[in-house]
This record gives sequence, structure tokens and C-alpha cells, in this order.
Amino acid sequence: MKDLLNKRKKAFAVYVAACLIPVITQMMNNYVFARLLGSVESQNMREFYIAIYIAASFVILSTLLYILSRFLRIRFMRDTILDIRLQAFDKILRYNLERFGKKSKDVYVSNLINDINLFEQNFFFKLINIIFRGGVYVVSLVVLLILDPRFALAIFAVSVVIFLISKRFEKKTIDLQEDVSGRNEAFTVNVANTFNGLEILKLNNIEETFLDKTLKMIDRVESKKMHYGIFAEGQRSITRLLGTGIFVVILIYMLEQLNQGLSITRMTFMIQLANGCVWPLEQVMPMINELKASVKIYDKIAGNDVGESTAVEGQLPFVFNECIEIKNLSFHFEDRKVLSDINLKIEKGKKYLLKGSSGSGKSTLIKLLSKVYDDYEGTIEIDGVNLKDIKISEFNDKVSFIFQDVFLFEDTLYNNIALFKPDYEERVKEAVKKSGLSDLAERNLNFINMDLSENGKNLSGGQRQRISIARAIAKDVDVLFADEATSSLDAELGRKIEETLLTMECTLIAVSHRTYEEVSEMYDFVLELKNGHLTTYSGFEYFEEVVA
Ligand code: ADP
Ligand code: MG
Repeated sequence: MKDLLNKRKKAFAVYVAACLIPVITQMMNNYVFARLLGSVESQNMREFYIAIYIAASFVILSTLLYILSRFLRIRFMRDTILDIRLQAFDKILRYNLERFGKKSKDVYVSNLINDINLFEQNFFFKLINIIFRGGVYVVSLVVLLILDPRFALAIFAVSVVIFLISKRFEKKTIDLQEDVSGRNEAFTVNVANTFNGLEILKLNNIEETFLDKTLKMIDRVESKKMHYGIFAEGQRSITRLLGTGIFVVILIYMLEQLNQGLSITRMTFMIQLANGCVWPLEQVMPMINELKASVKIYDKIAGNDVGESTAVEGQLPFVFNECIEIKNLSFHFEDRKVLSDINLKIEKGKKYLLKGSSGSGKSTLIKLLSKVYDDYEGTIEIDGVNLKDIKISEFNDKVSFIFQDVFLFEDTLYNNIALFKPDYEERVKEAVKKSGLSDLAERNLNFINMDLSENGKNLSGGQRQRISIARAIAKDVDVLFADEATSSLDAELGRKIEETLLTMECTLIAVSHRTYEEVSEMYDFVLELKNGHLTTYSGFEYFEEVVA
């Protein structure tokens, strides 16, 4: 948070100064009021008219000061909020895939929307109040110190007591605010689940159950917010009660002073100054707690994650001319061992078919080879260079993926295949042909610019899968990972695509359950995963002997 304020030191200084302008107004107000009372006490009409004249000027001046203060504050607030939005978004985008996958996407959406709103509503409102009231406190105390040092010291001692009492509420305030943020996350995830799965919910008549669950969650979010509100208000009430008690004592002291010849003007002025010391503190302390709670929210959405591994990113270029060598590779998810002691040499340009029953670890092995997970035992080397030392962006430029779950952007077919790269037209057309998308091309001359709706809802499952195949083909890569690429295509199309993939120049590592006679035999090697162990067969050996 400090970095954020430091980034705009000058603007922040202007902001603080602008928050302090109302202190001048407040002090003038004290003076004008005391002067009015004093003029009444003096029973001198001329004095009274002067006081009225000063009061009228004060009203105009205070309005101008208010406008000035607001004008000076606005820029810093706007820029800071914009910064936080960017930082929060950037923080999420910078996560590697493994870290990103730890939470549901909707949690991130909640952070970007709910938490930033929560921050926006609380932070600046509290900050201006704290600065303003803090300013009133300091100025009042200094003036009192000049007028009556003993009295000023007594007031100061009282303020220390109020401070210590408020300190006790701090932790609970922060916890409650974090709770509200957590409930917001849960609620957003639930709503997203409901919308994403609406089709299944309706087809199975269970939307009522979900509606019920969602309503309960709204209830929980609101009850947490109320809990927070009640606690903050309770905290204010306690300090207010304390303030009232102190004020009564101050009044008694003042009456005594009045008996000893203090003028009404001076007494009024001092009471107002004492007011300026006790009340701001009473209000500021709970606000400081709430401000800290907001800062905590900021840390959560935009700050640096403490305690997260800051593994050094690889910096070496990706060079693949010979082979990828896997040595003694083992991997487990928490306590479940998925791969154990795998050794394999992947030669450049060769085609590998990865087989194994569902859950045997095929997708996991592909994720390890593609730098998604890096907390494995053993080593993976590309032409002798440790995969972990290779720069991720260079690596990603040279590999492509076809997954079973296809994601399509709500954009043109061109952008979905070219992935937003310009001047890719010829490649895209070629890839469309190779991936069997010609039916789309025949239907629509300008098919390349055709719009796909949300995740390709205007296409069939097979068409969507072919788009993801075209995407991988269009990219000029060294290694292609295909995880059940043809699973939703009919046999004829599946065979055609498989043939395309097998005749590409790149190294292919493909997971597939299907065997296409006369095509599957083109694989150079078949890898079989069973109980975490890998057995390597030559394609010929596997199809002639193992399958037969
Ligand atoms: P396959 O692709 O061969 O069907 P996977 O590689 O997807 O299998 O999964 C292998 C095993 O690892 C499965 O038992 C699965 O439950 C488990 N697994 C996969 N992903 C995760 C994950 N992110 N966290 C924990 N366990 C996982
Ligand atoms: Mg899989």
C-alpha cells in the first residue's frame, strides 16, 4: 500500500493538504461562533454588527474552501483507484497456470469487482476523515496548549486512553471485513456455477435447489455485512459514550473557570477546542481500524503475495534439435503418486502415442512436459538444457496444444485460429483446410471473419474441436501436444485429422483412445502408462504384437 501512495508523492501531498483545508474552516467556525457570543455578552451593537459581518463572510469563504478542497482531492483518488484496478488485474494475469488454477476463475472476478468496490467505498472516505479530524485534533491541542497548558495536557492524557481502548477493536474489525470479502467470493462462484450449468440444471429440474442455495448465500453475505456494520457502530458507541463523559467533566471545569472571571468568548472558544480534541479522536479511532481493514483488502487483491514461492524464472532460449530427455521423473498430487520413475527419450520429429486408462496420468505427463507444473522429482532436459531453466515465453512460442476441452473466444474465426496475430491469413486458410473445417468455408465465403458467439455456442462440438486443431496447426511449432484431439469427431473425420497430425513436421505427443487402422501405425512409438509406470513400444511392435 505504501508503494502505491509513494508512487504519486506530490499528488498525495496535495491530497493531504486538501483534506486539511476543512481544518481551517473548522477553526474559523470556532472563532466566529465565540465572537458572536462575545458580542452579545458585550451588549455593544457595533460589536454585534461586526460579528455578523464576519459570520457572513465566513459562510462564503467556507463554501469556496470546500470546492477547492474537493477539486484538489479528486485527481489523486481517481488515479489511485485506476492503479489498483490495473494492479489487481495484472497480478492475476501474471500468475503461472498452476497458481492460477488453484482458485476458481470466479474468485478472481469477485476480487476485481466486489473487493475493489469495497475498497473504493471505504478507503478514501475513511482517509479524508482521518486526515481532517487528525488535523483538527492537532491544531486544537496546540492552541489549547497556548491558552491553558495544564488543561491541554489533561485532554492529551484522555486521548491516549481512548487510543488504547480502540486498539483492542482493531483485529476483529479487520477479520470481519475479510469475512465479507470471502463471502462475496463464495457468492460469485455460486452465481457463476448456476449460469454456466443452467442447461444441466434445467434439464434435470434442479434449478430450484440452486436458487435456494444462492438465496442462502445472499443471506450470508448480507448477514456478514450487517455483523461488520454492527460491530463498527458498537465500537463508535463505546467511544462516543466515553467522549460524552469526558465532555461533562470539561464543562464542570469550565464553569469553575467562569466563576474565577473567565470571559464567555474565551470559555466558548476553549470548549470548542476541547471538543476538537475529544470528538475527532472518538471518531477517528474506529475509522483507523476500518482503514486498516481496507488496506488488508488491497493487499489481498493487488499486493505482493507473501510466502508464495518465488522460484527463479528460467531465462535460457528454447532450442530443440535433438531430443527431450526425461530422467527418473516422479510426480504426485499431495499424497497421491501419479507418475513414478519415468525415463524416456523423445526424438525430434518423431510421433508418440500416449496410452493408458482414464486417470492413469496422461494429461499430467503432458502438463509436466509443457512447464505447467514444475514441482516434480527427476529432470526433463531439452538438448541437454533443463526445462526449468528455459524461458517460459520462448517455450510457449514453440509448442502448441490441442485439448479435449476447447475454449473459443467470443471473436472472429480468424482471431480464434491466429490467436490475434496479424498477417496470418494464408496460414489460417491452410489450417482450416487441414483440420477439416472446409464445411464452414463452403457455407460462407467470408468465413474467416465469421463471428463465433460465447465459447462457440453457434458451432457443433466437432467444429469447435476442429477450430482448436486449426489453431495448433496454424502456429509454426517444434512440438505439438494433442490431448484426445479427435475424441468428439466421427471416425472418418478423426482418421483424417490424425493423418494430418502425423504428417506434420513437428514432434507430436498425442493422447488418444482411438485406433485408426492404417493411420495409427504411423506413430513411431507408443507409450503406455500403467500404475504410474511407463512402457515404451515401437509403433510397429505395439500394433503388430501388443494389440493384435
Ligand atoms: P488421464 O489424463 O490419464 O486421464 P490425469 O493425468 O488427468 O489422468 O490424472 C491423473 C490422476 O491425477 C487422476 O487420479 C486425477 O484424479 C489426479 N489429478 C489430476 N489433476 C489433479 C489436480 N489438479 N489435483 C489433484 N489431483 C489431480
Ligand atoms: Mg486426460
